Amino acid sequence: MEEGPRPRGLIKKREAAPELLKWYRKHGRDFIWREEGFSSYGSLIAEMMLQKTQAKVVEPVLKEFLARYPTVESIHRAPRKEIEKLIKRLGLFRTRSKNMKKVAKIIVEKYGGKVGASMDELAELPGVGPYVSSAVRCFKGEERVPVLDANVARVVGRLYGIDYRDPKHQKELWGKAEGLLPRKNVKEFNWALIDLGALVCKPSNPKCGECPLRSICHVGRDKIALVQSSPTMRKGKRIEFETCTDVV
Ligand code: SF4
Repeated sequence: MEEGPRPRGLIKKREAAPELLKWYRKHGRDFIWREEGFSSYGSLIAEMMLQKTQAKVVEPVLKEFLARYPTVESIHRAPRKEIEKLIKRLGLFRTRSKNMKKVAKIIVEKYGGKVGASMDELAELPGVGPYVSSAVRCFKGEERVPVLDANVARVVGRLYGIDYRDPKHQKELWGKAEGLLPRKNVKEFNWALIDLGALVCKPSNPKCGECPLRSICHVGRDKIALVQSSPTMRKGKRIEFETCTDVV
């Protein structure tokens, strides 16, 4: 019989990584920014585009963008209106194009056009912030840091029973995400958490019955126990919580 959920903070990292990585190798998504040899510059632009925008919308725009502007210098030289037109499909195009121009100027003038050289100060650049900075530092700089986008915040919040929608819990969520990081395969682990949030631990109707983390999840264990104790809900062969609109 399933045990009840454990109190907050008792999940050990060794419990999350093996199952999640196994799931990722089977179900993880392929994107150009995850390919071997993708540049730090491309990764920075991809992550700036991925903020508040779905990956499937970003990919074609990114390909076109990198073909037109293959270096930081090329963005620095380009008229902002031209950039704006190219990224229009992503939404927030004015803010994004302004930030891209500002970031390009700083990287060209201060770091000789090298994104890698700006790693320590990435979070301070306009429109970059903690998510983009940690994504580039982890995926390109091989740093062992958590990458907390909206998908990951939701997964971690549900794992620990923390209200991920409340901005005052952001710091706690970053801390918990850091505590889950394995010693090796950190990049894959962060991609796995992002994909789990996008494909399984969705904002509504999370598919807890298919989730590789269900046995250690505060919310998932609670919901599974509920289904198992209810003869009506038990009738369904798979546990998907179709009726669950949100869970924290
Ligand atoms: Fe999300 Fe359910 Fe998995 Fe928990 S068990 S992480 S709520 S899908």
